[in-house]
Amino acid sequence: MKLILLGAAGSGKGTLAKKITADFGIPQLSMGDMLRDIASSGSELGKKIGEYQNKGILVPSDVVFEVLKVRLSQADCKNGFILDGFPRSLEQAELLSGVTDIDAVISVELAFDELERRLVSRRTCPKCGDIDNANYEGFTGNCRKCQTPLFQRDDDKPEAIRTRLEVYKKNITPLINFYSGKVFKVSSAGTPDETYRPVKNFLGSLEA
Ligand code: ADP
Repeated sequence: MKLILLGAAGSGKGTLAKKITADFGIPQLSMGDMLRDIASSGSELGKKIGEYQNKGILVPSDVVFEVLKVRLSQADCKNGFILDGFPRSLEQAELLSGVTDIDAVISVELAFDELERRLVSRRTCPKCGDIDNANYEGFTGNCRKCQTPLFQRDDDKPEAIRTRLEVYKKNITPLINFYSGKVFKVSSAGTPDETYRPVKNFLGSLEA
């Protein structure tokens, strides 16, 4: 199954991707994580990528697409994958259509004021990448999985958040139109499990 997950920053698409991976056995290809790994390598390319990410603007599509192609060629993508964070523009969707077809697109939807609210209080584990929220019950400031102290991503600060949401707003309609007929929309206003339930049913029906 070859899937695309669309959704603004803070919509919960990463969490949804992890649940799909667990149930359907296809890898989550998180573009943001792949780019952050390159950025933290300290190479010249990494430094440039880090500058784009910290501002919340898109890394140029040719760079991102090269990274994606390398990842898609790896053995674990043979039976499918979930693209999380790619494509983010019509240009990227067109590049992708030149190398693979897609079975379905899941669009995770949430009101913009709620996205902002979730993002400013989002905290990330530097060690295992798990995400928590300072507003959630039981939040201690340490990772629930590995106990490492959590940090706030540079692009989870107010100015970069606004930019990221603007970039998303500008690009989402052309993307939905590009994939029309393949798009399954789901609201993430409820809990992660409530968001996942209809998606799981939909993917089950695709597999059948
Ligand atoms: P979020 O979806 O929460 O904004 P990500 O971790 O997916 O966070 O992405 C963080 C940043 O990485 C983006 O703001 C952008 O700079 C870069 N990035 C991720 N995916 C892409 C992409 N497909 N094209 C260009 N830049 C990207």
